[in-house]
Amino acid sequence: MEACEEEARARGRTVLSSDHLALIEVGRAQLIRVGRPLRIEMAGWRYGDRIPAASRSGLMSRIFAGLPPPPVSGYRPYGLGRADPPMHWVLSPFQDAAWALTTAFTTVPLAPSCPACSGPAALRPWSFHELRVVSSRGAHHVAARCGLCDQDVLHPLRDARPALRLGLSVVDPGSVDAVRAEKAAGQVEHVGGAHGFLEYLAQEGLDLGEMSLDERLALVMSLDEDAEIEALEREWRAAEEIAAIMDAELTSVPGFDAFRRAVLSEARE
Ligand SMILES: [Zn+2]
Repeated sequence: MEACEEEARARGRTVLSSDHLALIEVGRAQLIRVGRPLRIEMAGWRYGDRIPAASRSGLMSRIFAGLPPPPVSGYRPYGLGRADPPMHWVLSPFQDAAWALTTAFTTVPLAPSCPACSGPAALRPWSFHELRVVSSRGAHHVAARCGLCDQDVLHPLRDARPALRLGLSVVDPGSVDAVRAEKAAGQVEHVGGAHGFLEYLAQEGLDLGEMSLDERLALVMSLDEDAEIEALEREWRAAEEIAAIMDAELTSVPGFDAFRRAVLSEARE
């Protein structure tokens, strides 16, 4: 971070700045300086159109690369012209995304395994709108009916999150305007963050089809935040494990000290 800060001061050109965020060009790279990372302000940048399209490249595109891309083949489910969707889709509010949802959920399961039949947790694409967040034994889960065994099951949110996130980006493709993104982030902020928003959805018992576009956008933000916290925790854990190994553990392994001395003296020669 210090190296980035030095680069930004020495050679940087500020492209865009707001109260707590700045986009800085350094040569061919781009850096974002974060003051206080406010959820609402960040949402306009990340999910909205607050950043000029031309600047969504380089480092920015790598930061945004975590988001699944929109499907390549568009959203007209049944080819050219208007056809009536097959019967299963009649109850789905996501008929326009039928083709893309079908592609998604015949490619990836909702979760690695079904607690009832232990097969992959297959999801019938026309029942995507029935997915709900539920709170059970202190953790959030996704309630779904298994496409293989037809049982209603609960998947830990962590297991179902990537496929749920993929499905959400299929039904609501493209970026929204920044004001809308900030409004959705405001909803997340209002209930105390990602965890609070998931809890709100669980309490209300809303399925995806019953949520407003803004609520689905807030769900997307909550899922991303949850994923990022998990990734950070994993990094910290790994760093702590390495620190613990360096501190003590390996030095107590018989022979390791001799090995280290040998390697170091060879390296010096
Ligand atoms: Zn099953």
